[in-house]
Amino acid sequence: MTRILHRQIDANLRTASGGKGVELFDQDGRGYIDASGGAAVSCLGHGHPDVVAALHAQADKLAYAHTSFFTSEVAEALAERLVADAPAGLDYIYFVSGGSEAVEAALKMARQYFVETGQPQRAKIIARRQSYHGNTLGALATGGNEWRRAQFKPLLAETHHIDPCYAYRYQEPGESETEYGTRSAQALEDKILELGPETVMAFVAEPVVGATAGAVPAVAGYFRRIREICDRYGVLLILDEVMCGMGRTGTLHACEQDGVAPDLMTVAKGLGGGYQPIGATFLAGRIYEAFANGSGLFQHGHTYICHPMACAAALAVQEVVARDRLLDNVKAMGAHLSRRLGERFGNHPHVGDVRGRGLFMGVELVEDRGTKAPFDPARKLNARIKREAMNRGLAVYPAGGTIDGSRGDHILLAPPFIIDAATVDTVVERLGEAVDAAI
Ligand code: PMP
Repeated sequence: MTRILHRQIDANLRTASGGKGVELFDQDGRGYIDASGGAAVSCLGHGHPDVVAALHAQADKLAYAHTSFFTSEVAEALAERLVADAPAGLDYIYFVSGGSEAVEAALKMARQYFVETGQPQRAKIIARRQSYHGNTLGALATGGNEWRRAQFKPLLAETHHIDPCYAYRYQEPGESETEYGTRSAQALEDKILELGPETVMAFVAEPVVGATAGAVPAVAGYFRRIREICDRYGVLLILDEVMCGMGRTGTLHACEQDGVAPDLMTVAKGLGGGYQPIGATFLAGRIYEAFANGSGLFQHGHTYICHPMACAAALAVQEVVARDRLLDNVKAMGAHLSRRLGERFGNHPHVGDVRGRGLFMGVELVEDRGTKAPFDPARKLNARIKREAMNRGLAVYPAGGTIDGSRGDHILLAPPFIIDAATVDTVVERLGEAVDAAI
């Protein structure tokens, strides 16, 4: 019996009572491999002694100081560290409490930037159909996932969604990667021209799409072309790395692999690894300067921005990731996971696709492997796989949304960066059994 309004109203929800390394334990002491790190959050796993020690030390020293009076040593140290490793030109950062807040802040920075620089008519946002950028009203308006948006209309921002929702070669079109990437990006230029370039504020996209489609990267060249189009029309490029960022794909930022730097970038989940709620918005120097030389403030703020405990957790997590060279393990274990998933599901009659980058992999379940037709949603396959996996001591992230944008089923794998090969093998074995039992 729970008195909490949970995301899913589920009488069978288990109670987590502990965690160590890649495992979580319920109230009866049963262990579950946390193979999706929650929702790609727990990059260091659970109970990491260095992070716990850093949290104790910060609690002893300073838990809270309001940002209208003070900055804090720990927030400054975190900012220095993150900006030093940020994509080119992202020289400033704004700390919030999670991914949706980071997206809201990015949208308001973009809007205020154009107001401060004398282009207040630039207010329209372009994003991709089927995308997810958070659940607060502005972020929800930005996302193109109809299923999440429908009942909350009218939404706050004027947003337009383009296709293809992911520049990903799913059904092998008969053209080269570059041609396909260029053609996919063309949709953005067409939309900007249709709306009137002087009215468009920003284009928002996830470099590797997470929650709505299961770790879908874009083809080579797509984001470079997107960057060129944004530059040509003075549209800000906002990359949402809330899920795919902070090392998850094998590089600190996913966009490094696409060879682009955005004007604004959001991160969260892996930033604090779940040890504290924290997110951040990186911003280009010219946006910061527009505020500094204009009104002198960013007209935004929350009580818990720059929270010292959250910053201490993130600083410790990022120090461990660097010190222990965990991105090397993400690459090595990512390759191992990809290989094992290929062996287990490569010829499975109901697996349409296995894809991803680093320790961010998606397995798509389909009724028919040939046509890639999704299962009837009434079968609630996702939920059944989740239950079968939990019964086998495996927690994986199930979510809906096939590549073509219709509702389907996929399993997202995003285990902690500390996972070893034997545990990867166990994850794939248990997942295989769960999928077969659920279908
Ligand atoms: N953007 C993306 C790409 C996400 O995956 C998520 C969370 N799944 C969010 C934003 C929202 O983050 P939060 O749940 O921390 O508000």
